[in-house]
Amino acid sequence: MLDLDIKTDVLIVGAGPAGISLALNLGKRNISCILVDQKTKKMIGYKPCGDALSLKAAGILFELCGINPPRGEEISEILDTAHFQPTLDYELKIYHSSQTVDRLKYGQRLLNTLMMDFPCVEIKPKHKVVDTLIEDGKVVGCRIRQENGKIIKIYAKIVADCSGVTGIVRRNITEDVSDKFPKKLHNKEIIVSYLEIIEVPKPHNYQKQMRIEYHKELPAPGYFWIFSKGEKKLNIGVGWLINDYNKQFSAKKICEQLRNKFFPKAKIIDAAGDTLTGRLPLYSMVSNGFITCGDAGALVNPISGEGHAPALLSGFYAAEVVELAIRNQDYSEEALWDYNVKMWDMYGYDGGLGIAVHKLLNSVPFRDFSFLFEKEIISQNDVDAIMEDYSVKLPIFQKIIKGLRKPVLLIKVAKGLLLAERIKKLSKNYPQNTKKFYRWMKKIKKIEKRRI
Ligand SMILES: Cc1cc2nc3c(=O)[nH]c(=O)nc-3n(C[C@H](O)[C@H](O)[C@H](O)COP(=O)(O)OP(=O)(O)OC[C@H]3O[C@@H](n4cnc5c(N)ncnc54)[C@H](O)[C@@H]3O)c2cc1C
Repeated sequence: MLDLDIKTDVLIVGAGPAGISLALNLGKRNISCILVDQKTKKMIGYKPCGDALSLKAAGILFELCGINPPRGEEISEILDTAHFQPTLDYELKIYHSSQTVDRLKYGQRLLNTLMMDFPCVEIKPKHKVVDTLIEDGKVVGCRIRQENGKIIKIYAKIVADCSGVTGIVRRNITEDVSDKFPKKLHNKEIIVSYLEIIEVPKPHNYQKQMRIEYHKELPAPGYFWIFSKGEKKLNIGVGWLINDYNKQFSAKKICEQLRNKFFPKAKIIDAAGDTLTGRLPLYSMVSNGFITCGDAGALVNPISGEGHAPALLSGFYAAEVVELAIRNQDYSEEALWDYNVKMWDMYGYDGGLGIAVHKLLNSVPFRDFSFLFEKEIISQNDVDAIMEDYSVKLPIFQKIIKGLRKPVLLIKVAKGLLLAERIKKLSKNYPQNTKKFYRWMKKIKKIEKRRI
């Protein structure tokens, strides 16, 4: 280490919801940190996104650590219902309270709280991490490019990768430090997407709604979302988990096509393409001197694409284990391990269900899903049970009778639910320490590979 190099207790890479939440929670614990982001200070919080943030999760975060939920102008719209429309003539409606938020305004408020209330956290905008520093099998810091092009090194007892889907710290970790998580995600674990914030001349027909629709313009397993952002404002977008067939399609073109079809007079306020993870959480999210939160840990719900709340909450839970590690001066993988147990308990089932749904969408035409609901093979109660993380018994005798016209479909749905159940069971039985990890990972990888 040279005199010019900087030293801190915790280096947090990325000031999105995961990094800001971790910094706020470490600030409260009076732990010295440096929070770096490649963006300018004014742009921290901005992110092209569907903008939906669950009210329940924002409330849980407040109860856990006092971070106030979005309020006033940070909220674009409170949403009452979610609509799933697999074909033009069928729609499933779920009463579901959520909100669309202004991510920049909400992110800026959290940043201001951090700057005003927690002097132990130093914020360095316009600092881009380019590499991970490793010594003796441990992550010890990052190499960082400043705005003027100068490279500096920041050393830390623990480095937290909160850099979103790029996982810049994780992807530079060598196998000798950890072989428990993939460094670079496979293309087929990535969802490509494109979105637009639009304004229409008259009040639209989707007040207080979030909608997921399928249209013939989309390659399977693509979907079109429409989230209300006010009387005349909407967040619309398309996305799909990459496969061999759909990788040639342009999300931007298809989004524009659907906008021209459904909102021909719309004015475009903002538009951007981006990616998100569509896989199970990383098998492990820690190693010696390293922890990862939010999208960098693949904590996004692969069905809904919701990752904002998991990012905020993972920041809180990471702070708990990081505090202990700093106080005990033990920054080892073992010392940080409880975070894995917690994250898999919270998000393993969502991931498993997501994998099952994507496998189903890849092997069953979208229109067949309406058959399941029209014939009440899957009822509203079943959907609630599936989404609320308790068991649904499929197929039972009556369901088999009702589904006789499409037995293959029913078998595939049952297989999908079974796959999700198995992943749920393993998620709840995450190894309590590193010793049993490899056996556990082998089991989960085997289930992931199953065909539906
Ligand atoms: C199209 C789309 C739609 C979505 N819709 C929704 C939705 O409706 N609801 C929902 O809950 N979630 C949604 N998500 C997911 C949600 O946006 C993410 O899950 C969430 O932002 C994750 O937060 P994060 O802090 O982990 O990462 P990010 O928000 O991505 O923040 C990462 C931060 O790290 C910084 N960074 C990256 N690389 C470097 C580097 N090398 N050096 C320094 N800094 C770096 C970035 O500038 C950024 O500020 C959507 C995502 C996409 C792409």
